[in-house]
Amino acid sequence: MSAIASDIGVIGAGAAGMWAAAAAARLGRSVVLLEKTPRTGTKVLASGGTRCNLTTTLDARHAAELFGREGARFLRPALRAVTPQDVRARFEEWGVPTQEAPLEKIFPTSGRARDVRDALEHEVRASGARIEFEAGVLGIERGQAGWDVVLHDGRVARFTRLIVCPGGMSYPKTGTTGEGYAWLERLDLPIVEPVPALVPLSSPVEWVRELSGIAVQDVEARLLDEKRTLLGRRRRPVLFTHKGLSGPGAMDLSEHVARGQAKALRRRSAPPQFTIELDLVPELTREALRELLIDAAGRAGAPLLSRVLPVDLPKRLLFAVTRQAGLGREVDPRPNQLDKQARHALVETLKGLSVQIDGTLGFDHAEVTAGGLALTHVDSGTLAVKGHDGLFACGEILDLTGPIGGLNFQAAFATAELAARAAARG
Ligand SMILES: Cc1cc2nc3c(=O)[nH]c(=O)nc-3n(C[C@H](O)[C@H](O)[C@H](O)COP(=O)(O)OP(=O)(O)OC[C@H]3O[C@@H](n4cnc5c(N)ncnc54)[C@H](O)[C@@H]3O)c2cc1C
Repeated sequence: MSAIASDIGVIGAGAAGMWAAAAAARLGRSVVLLEKTPRTGTKVLASGGTRCNLTTTLDARHAAELFGREGARFLRPALRAVTPQDVRARFEEWGVPTQEAPLEKIFPTSGRARDVRDALEHEVRASGARIEFEAGVLGIERGQAGWDVVLHDGRVARFTRLIVCPGGMSYPKTGTTGEGYAWLERLDLPIVEPVPALVPLSSPVEWVRELSGIAVQDVEARLLDEKRTLLGRRRRPVLFTHKGLSGPGAMDLSEHVARGQAKALRRRSAPPQFTIELDLVPELTREALRELLIDAAGRAGAPLLSRVLPVDLPKRLLFAVTRQAGLGREVDPRPNQLDKQARHALVETLKGLSVQIDGTLGFDHAEVTAGGLALTHVDSGTLAVKGHDGLFACGEILDLTGPIGGLNFQAAFATAELAARAAARG
């Protein structure tokens, strides 16, 4: 059995690990990248519907803001060091030109996630870093000269400095099963409870499932708890599925649902219920919509509602709206048929079609894990784990979650770069 030792060890050949290994090796250090599975970048390959939305068109400041107050504060130095524009330039240098897509997304021009994964792996090899496949890590501990890493096959790898980036526990079948949290907990480091995020939502309501397959492009989704407290809002496309709601608008709000469920489980209280209100005409205020209907009611020819609305709602969805508004079996009423009360109900429903939500589809379907190593215990300028000399953490294992749109890869690359620089400086 060959011994493994080098200046720097990196655990996990995902987006963060490959970026960190290459960056540290380019700074002149000997680097070994330990990967549990027989391949690199499994999630990169699966990402963005196999097209890989690798970063965003947003600038560093606006990208950071999407990670919440704490996340933004933490991420600022990393996103200043490696901006979304830098990530694009770097992939361009590596032979992967990129292009913009709607909703601030950046994809490889080829539309192939494989090109992104291959470029990262090629850069690791070109930098001189070595990849050890099927080198699953069991635990990490302080060694005589730095950090010892115990592998599943009993080998102990020895490093002067160690960068930990084994990801979270979403899509566990790809190899990320959340083992890293236990290693850090054993070092007395606080882990914010991991919950699934960027995950579709489930609804117990039959009519929602009947709309399966309908996508609404311009809609604002608002998530409310049982007390009708607004937990979050997001103007992004929403998709009705046979289980509930998906699409970025719903998935971006899912962390709140997962947190509520985790809290109830901890307290052994009844599972919480949530409501998503869908504003199907976000361009118009309630008042403007009311005026539009009144105006249409007075128009010659008595146009149908579907002809009056500024959005093109599929018939099945329009029927769900009129039913929820209490307009009986009328699918597409004419505004001149509506009395004041019916018009009010229609306006309220179009501005907030109410969908009951009872959970998420869980880690198996979650794009990321929210929670992880508490940011208070990590230096945001170096990604050094506080109180543990020579230990660094980056990527999804940190308590950092951004919305859909290339933000999570961007955070993984940027935190990896700072961790690599600091570890190489060591
Ligand atoms: C279906 C899907 C689509 C997504 N699409 C996008 C997208 O388009 N844009 C975007 O920004 N984000 C997307 N994401 C999220 C993105 O994939 C993650 O944010 C990103 O991969 C995190 O990078 P990471 O390197 O920290 O972790 P990971 O990419 O998860 O890599 C962790 C690596 O560590 C290895 N590992 C785990 N445990 C061990 C161990 N014990 N020993 C050794 N190795 C170990 C794993 O096998 C894996 O290779 C998507 C996620 C999924 C699941």
